[in-house]
Amino acid sequence: PIVLGIETSCDETGIGIVSGTRLLAHQVASSMDEHVAFGGVIPEIAARAHVTEFLPVLNAALAEAHITLDDVDAIAVTAGPGLAGALMVGVAGAKALAVATGKPLYGINHLIAHIGVGFLDNVGADLHNVHQLGALLVSGGHTEMLKINSLTSDVELLGSTIDDAAGEAYDKVARLIGAGYPGGPIIDKMAHDGDPKAFTFPRGLTAPKNMGSAQEPAKDRYNWSFSGLKTAVSRAVEQFALRDMEVPANDIAASFQEAVADVITHKAVLAATEHGIDHILLGGGVAANSRLRQLLTERTQAAGIGLTIPPMNLCTDNGAMVAALGAQLVADGVAPSDLTFSADPTQAVQRVSV
Ligand code: ATP
Ligand code: MG
Ligand code: FE
Repeated sequence: PIVLGIETSCDETGIGIVSGTRLLAHQVASSMDEHVAFGGVIPEIAARAHVTEFLPVLNAALAEAHITLDDVDAIAVTAGPGLAGALMVGVAGAKALAVATGKPLYGINHLIAHIGVGFLDNVGADLHNVHQLGALLVSGGHTEMLKINSLTSDVELLGSTIDDAAGEAYDKVARLIGAGYPGGPIIDKMAHDGDPKAFTFPRGLTAPKNMGSAQEPAKDRYNWSFSGLKTAVSRAVEQFALRDMEVPANDIAASFQEAVADVITHKAVLAATEHGIDHILLGGGVAANSRLRQLLTERTQAAGIGLTIPPMNLCTDNGAMVAALGAQLVADGVAPSDLTFSADPTQAVQRVSV
């Protein structure tokens, strides 16, 4: 089926078109430039930008795919999770299109769409043929390890952060060391000129009492926590400031990045090994992180686990991933959404479609 996918959960207005597992169009406009001055995404600015960008991005996507709305078999839109006002623009726009064209509409889960994108033809291994797939989602709002029993109907949450998301920790630490926003790419760059062993920052929830054993796993065995790490960075910065010494920002960046990549990959590979997962798909904006990619590649290889990392422009938020998941839902015969559905800012990962 030809499926049009609409994504407006945060600062990206994304519209993508797929034909089954083939990508036909992938258009994204971002309001990030407007948020930079505030040091974070301002929900109302993001929502207004979606209103402005919706039709230009839609027209660009249709032009790229060389189709018209008539050719589309189904429409998919991110229903949640995300920013309420931002989501509502996409949902309202998608409903208008569905009513005007008479096409079925699927309200889908943004997080599962980050995984659905891995099933496109141009993205690495054929995930349909993997024995047991797992997904590691690391983004500005989420850090989650999932077991994908069925992409469209059975997703199991193995572990997640109990406080900040990894991307959020990057953004906060960047602020602490005066590095600017968004913090991820900047810290990644600074880390290349720093010593990852200069500071030993904590790996949250890795004490024996948090881990338990494979036979008797403790509650947080596969969970992450980044708030202690952020506090440790803040203390380190303070120590230098108190002594009027220059803060070794590159060393702090490198040591922080090492702690994040170490604990994320350690727990993801552990969860995979203990749940029979033989292939991991990495998704979300933090998948751009050089150390995370490197360490995950090393550790999955050592554990005999396959790894797929989609191209960066499909890891960050986009409409192609929404279309990709929509096409899977159609293929699996899942019923379209009732048109009375609303946006669900806190939609649980187990709720693949609404
Ligand atoms: P979600 O998908 O959970 O709703 P989001 O839309 O904010 O959240 P993405 O757009 O997928 O998330 O990713 C943005 C995040 O990725 C930001 O927090 C940013 O700092 C981080 N990021 C981008 N590049 C890098 C990098 N090289 N290293 C670390 N983090 C990065
Ligand atoms: Mg974003
Ligand atoms: Fe996202």
